[in-house]
Amino acid sequence: MKKWNLIIDVEKCEDCNDCFLSCKDEHVDNDWPGYSVSQPRHGHRWMNIMRKERGQYPLIDVAYRPTPCMHCDSAPCIKAARGNAVYKRNDGIVIIDPIKAKGQQQVVKACPYGAVWWNEEKDIPQKCTFCAHLLDEGWTKPRCVQACPTGALRAIYAEDSEMERIIKAEDLEVLHPEYKTRPRVYYKNLYLYEKCFIAGSVAFEKDGAIECAQGATVSLFKDSNKIAETTTDTFGDFKFDKLDENSGNYTLEIVYQGHKKKALDVELKTSLNAGTIHL
Ligand code: SF4
Ligand code: SF4
Repeated sequence: MKKWNLIIDVEKCEDCNDCFLSCKDEHVDNDWPGYSVSQPRHGHRWMNIMRKERGQYPLIDVAYRPTPCMHCDSAPCIKAARGNAVYKRNDGIVIIDPIKAKGQQQVVKACPYGAVWWNEEKDIPQKCTFCAHLLDEGWTKPRCVQACPTGALRAIYAEDSEMERIIKAEDLEVLHPEYKTRPRVYYKNLYLYEKCFIAGSVAFEKDGAIECAQGATVSLFKDSNKIAETTTDTFGDFKFDKLDENSGNYTLEIVYQGHKKKALDVELKTSLNAGTIHL
C-alpha cells in the first residue's frame, strides 16, 4: 500500500519561508472539518525552520532545517493521547482529531521533536496535517511543497519498499533515529545542520608578501590514524566536514612543495576555523 513521505534537502533550503507562510495561508482562519481547526495567527510553527551558523569568520556557512511533524510510524503522540484522539491513517499521515483532543495538553509534551503546538484559545494540541484535506481531494502535494521555489521539499507517495530504495539511492536520514519513532520525513544533506567541520587556510611568504598556498595537501588525523585528505583551493582554504560535535582532538598535517611539513593540533567542540596556517 502506498503511503506519504516527505524528503527535505537541507542544502537546497534558502530560508525564504514560503513553506511556513503557505502553511499559515492554508490553516489560519480556516477550519478543515475532520482534519483540523484554524491555526492561531501567531505562535504556531507547524513548519518550523531551524537555523544554524557553523564556523567562524571568514570560513563560515549557514544551514536551514525545515522541521514539520515527522508523521512517525511509531508515534509517541499517539500513545500519549486518550480516546484515539491522535491516530495514523492508512496512508501514513498522523492526525490530531480536533474534537477528541480537547484538553489533552500531554500530547504536546509527548512529541520528542517539538512538533505539536498548544492552541490556548481552542484548548487543543495542533500540528502539521500533511494537508491531508487537500490530498484527499486529489492534490499530489501539500501546500508547503507546492510553495517551495528551490525543490528543497518533495512529497513522495510510494510503497515502503520503493521508499527504501530512494533512501539508499539518495543517502537519506531521519532526525534522531535513536528516538525509534520511525519518521516518514527524511533529510538529505542533514550533515550541514547536524555535523561539524574543521577548516582553515594555508599561506606562505614570498618576496616579503603573504601568498595563498593553492594545491597544498592537508591530512586529518584522529588518534594517529589518517581519516581524510584534501587539497587547498585557490585561496589556500581547506575544509573537512561531517565530523561529530565534541569529538575531541585532531591533528592537521600540511604538505606543500618547497616547504617543511607542518602539523597542528586542534580540539573540536563545534565547527572550527583553525585560522591561517603559515608555512
Ligand atoms: S513528530 Fe511528534 S507529533 Fe509528529 S507523529 Fe512524531 S511524535 Fe507525533
Ligand atoms: S519554501 Fe523551500 S527554500 Fe523556502 S524555507 Fe521552505 S523549504 Fe526552504
